[in-house]
Amino acid sequence: MEKVLIVEDSKVFARILIRKIEDELFFDTCWASNFEEARYLIEENPDGHNYFVALLDLHLPDAADGRIVDYVIAKGIPSIVFTGDVQSEVRDRIWSKKVVDYVAKESPDSLDYLCSLVRRISLNKFIDVLVVDDSATVRRHLMRLLEAHEFIVHEADSGERALEVLSRHPEIRVVITDYFMPGMDGVELTRHIRRDHRKDALAVIGISAYGNTILSARFIKNGANDFLNKPFSSEEFYCRVTQNLEMLEYIQKLRETAIRDPLTGLYNRRHFFDAAKALHSSLSRGDDSLTLAMIDIDHFKKVNDTYGHGVGDEVLKHVAHGLSNRFRGHDVAARLGGEEFCILARGLAGEPAMAVFDDLRNSIARSKAKAGKILVGVTVSIGICDKPMGSVDAMLAAADAALYKAKRSGRNRVLWAE
Ligand code: GH3
Ligand code: MG
Ligand code: MG
Repeated sequence: MEKVLIVEDSKVFARILIRKIEDELFFDTCWASNFEEARYLIEENPDGHNYFVALLDLHLPDAADGRIVDYVIAKGIPSIVFTGDVQSEVRDRIWSKKVVDYVAKESPDSLDYLCSLVRRISLNKFIDVLVVDDSATVRRHLMRLLEAHEFIVHEADSGERALEVLSRHPEIRVVITDYFMPGMDGVELTRHIRRDHRKDALAVIGISAYGNTILSARFIKNGANDFLNKPFSSEEFYCRVTQNLEMLEYIQKLRETAIRDPLTGLYNRRHFFDAAKALHSSLSRGDDSLTLAMIDIDHFKKVNDTYGHGVGDEVLKHVAHGLSNRFRGHDVAARLGGEEFCILARGLAGEPAMAVFDDLRNSIARSKAKAGKILVGVTVSIGICDKPMGSVDAMLAAADAALYKAKRSGRNRVLWAE
C-alpha cells in the first residue's frame, strides 16, 4: 500500500493537510510530528507501507535547517517542502536539495497546488520522457530533474538517435530537445517527430541556445509545443514540463468525453457508428466473423414508473457494466440511446455466439442492480445478426428485427436474425 508521508509539527496544519489529501485525492496518509517520528516510520516501517511522496515541514523542533529534507531524499522518497518563508535565499537552498517542489504555507491556494503536485507525482511514474542533448553533462542534469519527479526517463545524444528511441518507445509523451547538436538540430528533429506524432499526443519542448530568442519562435513554428530559453531554473523547467503534460491530459480527456455516454461510460451512438464502420470495412472479403447484437431492457418503463428515474439510471449502469465486463478490446459496446445497447464483436460467428449472448442474458436476469437500499432485477431481450450483410446499417436492421421478435415472443430471450 502506497501512502503519503506528512512530517509537520503543527497539529492543526497537519490535520488540514491530511483531510485535504484523503478527501480529494483518496490517498492514505501517515503523519509524523517531528524528525524522530519520521525516522521511525521510515526505518522501522511499522505498518509495512511504502511512501511514494513526502510532504515536509522545513522547520521541525528536533531538526533545524531542513535536515529532514536531506534525510528523506536520501531514503529515495520524492519530497515536497512547505515552509512559512519563501525568500529567495531559502528558495535556492531548498532547490539545491533536489526536492520535487516547495509550497508556501500561508494561502489556501497553496494547498490546492500541493494536492496537484502529489497527484502529479503519483501519475508521473507511468509517463515516459525523452531528453535529447549532445552534452552528457546537460543530459544528466535534465534527467536528474525529471527523475526527481518520478518520470521514466530516456536519453539520446543526437536527433537521429532520438528518432530511434522514439520508434522503439512509442509510449514517450514528452521530448525535451536541445537546439545545437551535430547532425540533425533540435528544430529539424521536431519537424521529423511531427510527421508521425500529433502535437496533442506528444509534446516537444525545445531548448533555445543562450541569448537566441529567435530560436523559440522557430521551434514553435516547426511543431514544438513549448520552449525554454537558456539559462532556466529548475522551477521553470518543472513548470513547463508539467504544464505541457496537463495540456495533453486535458485534450485526451476531452476526446474521451466526446465518444462516451456520460451515464454508463460505454461508447455513445456516434462513436459506435464510426468504430463499427471501421471494423466492418476492415473485414477482408469472405471473412464473416462479425456479430452485431441489439440489447434492450424489458419493461424498463416500469422500473422508472415504480422506483423513479434515479433508480432507472442505476439499472442502466448495472446493465452497461455487465456488457463492458464481457466485451472489450476489439469489440465495441455502446449505448445507442435510452435503454438500448449494441455490441459489435469479432470472431464470434456461429454457435459460440449464441452461448456468449445467452450467457449474458442469463447473468443479467440473475443479477440485481443496487440503488441505495433498493435492489432491482431486470431482464433483457437480444437480437443478433452474425453476417456482415454489406453494411453496418443492414446488420443493425436485421438485429433490430430479431429483437422485435424476441420482445413479441415473451422477452428475456436471444433471437437470431433470419
Ligand atoms: P420493452 O420491453 O418493450 O422494451 O418496454 P420498455 O418499457 O423497456 O420500452 P419503452 O421504449 O416503452 O420505454 C423505455 C423507457 O426508457 C422510457 C424512457 O423514459 C426510459 N429512459 C430512456 N432513457 C432513460 C434514461 O437515461 N434514464 C432513465 N431512468 N430512463 C430512461
Ligand atoms: Mg425496453
Ligand atoms: Mg426501447
